[in-house]
Amino acid sequence: MNAQTILFLNQKGGVGKTTSAVNLGAALAQQGKKVLLVDLDAQSNLTSATSIDGRRPGMYEVIAGKLSAEEAIQQTPVKNLYAIPSNINMAGLNIELVEEEEREFFIKRALVPLEESWEYILADCPPSLGLVTVNAMAWAKRVIIPMQCEYLAMEGLNLLMRTVGNMKKAINPDLEVLGILFTMYSKRTNLAKEVVEDVSSFFPQLVFKTMIPRNIRLAEAPSHGLPITVYDGSSSGAKAYKVLAKEVTKRVARNQ
Ligand code: ADP
Ligand code: MG
Repeated sequence: MNAQTILFLNQKGGVGKTTSAVNLGAALAQQGKKVLLVDLDAQSNLTSATSIDGRRPGMYEVIAGKLSAEEAIQQTPVKNLYAIPSNINMAGLNIELVEEEEREFFIKRALVPLEESWEYILADCPPSLGLVTVNAMAWAKRVIIPMQCEYLAMEGLNLLMRTVGNMKKAINPDLEVLGILFTMYSKRTNLAKEVVEDVSSFFPQLVFKTMIPRNIRLAEAPSHGLPITVYDGSSSGAKAYKVLAKEVTKRVARNQ
């Protein structure tokens, strides 16, 4: 095995990064893939959404060299789905790492040893382009950009595309955008349609056909510590993430 390594990346908060990491991860796991989720955000929403124990050592402690990434892995309630937690200490890392040599490569050094044991490693990034996110981009090969259909969406997207391009040139030649994922989509609004058309015309190869609808069950699931496919498998949100898992599997195979 040589893991597909995928980041959920967008410098904006509240666009569906964590929701997509958790629920795509669970859908892939339920389709028989061996999936590891990595929480890189100090807010640790992924940690609570998957019912793993955020008081046990997580990515911060791994990066600080207190334990190996392997030792930080916990089992989630979903078969084949495992996760490494985060905690509030991650918030200090952007500053702490500045002093270090090779400061871009802490996450890479920590996670590369896991790659041969997993089919997918999905990492949930914080809502910033700080050093933690730079570290994530120095490690992973693929990026999924979740985005909401809102006014000025293209501006944030262009900045993000430039950032990924710069990282590819300077630090990680393997880095590619796997796709742009529309979340909280509502086909009844004209703005949503316009944003999708706009983004699709600039990045025709990148927009995922699957769009995640706005679905209240997706917003409820994290408070039960469960992915949507377990919390309410028949909801529109669960169906969308299952279809997305198939699309991602195909796209990943094509891009190899
Ligand atoms: P991010 O990780 O980018 O900050 P989240 O995944 O935490 O974004 O999503 C932000 C909020 O929107 C959360 O409360 C989440 O439950 C909710 N949410 C995410 N996707 C959907 C959706 N498709 N429908 C309804 N609510 C959603
Ligand atoms: Mg988040």
